[in-house]
Amino acid sequence: MSSQVVTRFAPSPTGFLHIGGARTALFNWLYARGRGGKFLLRIEDTDRERSTPEATAAILQGLDWLGLDHDGEVISQFENAARHVEVAQQLLAEGKAYKCFATQDEIQAFRDAARAEGKSTLYRSPWRDADPATHPNAPYVVRIKAPQGGETVIRDQVQGDVTIRNDQLDDMVLLRSDGTPVYMLAVVVDDHDMGVTHVIRGDDHLNNAARQMMIYDAMGWDVPVWAHIPLIHGPDGKKLSKRHGALGVDEYQKMGYPAAGMRNYLARLGWSHGDDEFFTDAQAKEWFDLGGIGKSPARFDFKKLENLSGQHIAASDDAALLHELQAFLAATDQPALSDDKIVVLRKAMYCLKTGAKTFPQLIEKAEFALADRPIEPDAKAAKNLDDVSRSILMELTPHLQNASWSRNDLEGIANQFAESRDMKFGKFAAPLRAALAGRTATPSVFDMMLVLGREETIARLTDAAG
Ligand code: GLU
Repeated sequence: MSSQVVTRFAPSPTGFLHIGGARTALFNWLYARGRGGKFLLRIEDTDRERSTPEATAAILQGLDWLGLDHDGEVISQFENAARHVEVAQQLLAEGKAYKCFATQDEIQAFRDAARAEGKSTLYRSPWRDADPATHPNAPYVVRIKAPQGGETVIRDQVQGDVTIRNDQLDDMVLLRSDGTPVYMLAVVVDDHDMGVTHVIRGDDHLNNAARQMMIYDAMGWDVPVWAHIPLIHGPDGKKLSKRHGALGVDEYQKMGYPAAGMRNYLARLGWSHGDDEFFTDAQAKEWFDLGGIGKSPARFDFKKLENLSGQHIAASDDAALLHELQAFLAATDQPALSDDKIVVLRKAMYCLKTGAKTFPQLIEKAEFALADRPIEPDAKAAKNLDDVSRSILMELTPHLQNASWSRNDLEGIANQFAESRDMKFGKFAAPLRAALAGRTATPSVFDMMLVLGREETIARLTDAAG
């Protein structure tokens, strides 16, 4: 067997990609990508009633936004049904599974009797050891022969060894009476055929692992490394609800979190590397391991997400950030940037990206670059444009006419002007902000001047002073 790591994300397409699913995908992606392995994507669409193409599209879109690229084609579990049946037939042929002709009524009668006697209600089929010569010509299901006596141990990398008494396992159905394979069989066959070496998934699947092991054992297949990760809870320790942030990842994109910040935050949700909070993808790939996954449920915390998001915006490459900002505008149905605005924003990005925790905050800071003359000050900024302030702006403007427009020069002029008027620079910084941006929360006035250039700066100051 090759030693290459192969992980997979196996969502059921019954809704959007929620935050728990996104984290599962991320953990599998990090584990594979950090080890030169493969990260595969399988859509578990065997439940035809509940699976929809819209949900599949939403999941793919969510993964795409998060940058969790997968290897190879997207695999449809439903399309592998013939192979799942083939494995059940093989087990049947080898005597590791059997045809069970029990009717629903018979099974119910068995359970009622067991309950009355205080015994386990797990169904024990009389057909397990029946001679095929006695088989009726009637509908049947195919059941696996569960191990009798002894224990099954799941060696889980997060939960430790989990032991289940085999008398708690029943002869699980593999093929229904209409011949269709059950989900549990499909998962094992697909994981085996896809060469999955590590199964990292929510611990709501831990019980399934014991049943899935029966199939691995019966087929003589290697059992993958299991890692069942605790679910995500709200900040109050209760099950994650909408109020807590149990939303589709597309909602996080629409709230304006950058994908890198989201990846960083999700990686920290239930996994840790010492005290490191902020890290790059490269570090996450290098550091991520199963030993760092916590045993208790992680708590979702918007404050932490915002904090990391701001750090990632600040650390981003300007061009990449502008690109992501454009994707944010598209995702939120806002008008696209004109070519002129793209040019200005490219120049401005260096002073916009510090202090903005989300794209809406970055856009607020970018108002000076996005707005056109005449600048309409908002109510707060308008207060800084009283008569005195406007006369100061009027006096300052000529001094800027001949400036070389370097930061040094602009600062020198501003300081000199302040000194000559015997006032602090801060006194006219507020009217300057109001004139240049129409806002009170802006980048520094010198940054705005440098980005806008001489002509536009002087025009805006003249507009405001007049
Ligand atoms: N399809 C399952 C789910 O969406 C995942 C099964 C698995 O990872 O084995 O929860």
